[in-house]
Amino acid sequence: MAENEMLYNLFCYDRKIMDLKKELEKSDDVERLENLRDQAKTLEQNLFEAKKQLKSLQNQEKKEELENEKLNQEKQQLEKEMYLGDKGVKEISDLYDRINELKNKEQKVFDNYCDISDKIEHEKVTVENYESKYQSYLEDILSLKQEIERRKKYNNSEIEKLEQEKEKINNNLSKDMLNKYNQLMKRFPYDPVVKFDQQKETCACGLDLSTERHNNLIIEGIDFCDSCNRILVYLD
Ligand SMILES: [Zn+2]
Repeated sequence: MAENEMLYNLFCYDRKIMDLKKELEKSDDVERLENLRDQAKTLEQNLFEAKKQLKSLQNQEKKEELENEKLNQEKQQLEKEMYLGDKGVKEISDLYDRINELKNKEQKVFDNYCDISDKIEHEKVTVENYESKYQSYLEDILSLKQEIERRKKYNNSEIEKLEQEKEKINNNLSKDMLNKYNQLMKRFPYDPVVKFDQQKETCACGLDLSTERHNNLIIEGIDFCDSCNRILVYLD
């Protein structure tokens, strides 16, 4: 490979390596991943609260059930007493009042129980919704993480291949030329080498080559800019 071609390839590899590294650094996906994690955390908290609320409602429901059972037993006991038959009018009337009172209490407990049951059904739907949303966030996070890892792996392996290609060129370029290239690379990381063809006659710094210099470049294949010192290569 001729020197001009080697230098131009070297610059192309460096450019690609720079782009690949940049892509890894400024990837929006890292920010997206952070957002997804924040949202999943909020959902996890909501889910936890909803489950706590459901548990508390279920405990209340249980309490009302027990209360209802207790009142029912008490009522049955009084009804038995009433029908024993050895009671006076006053006693029967009192028992009757107490049974009615218990029936009223029972009704209230039952109403309360129904109310709580409705709330439980509602809360179960809430828990299910949070749960499925939370799961879908976890899936999104996982797939995005895999995507980031995949790209990282790909870019790193591409960088490694390019470094190997660079190494081959480095071994074939003269030490002086390599030093010159590396110095220019520090000053102009995006264009230390400028490629010319039959038409192109202007350096990256804006300097126009004279027709004579341009013709000479076409013959020699390589030259240096008088103004910025960049490496000028002719490749058709
Ligand atoms: Zn120049």
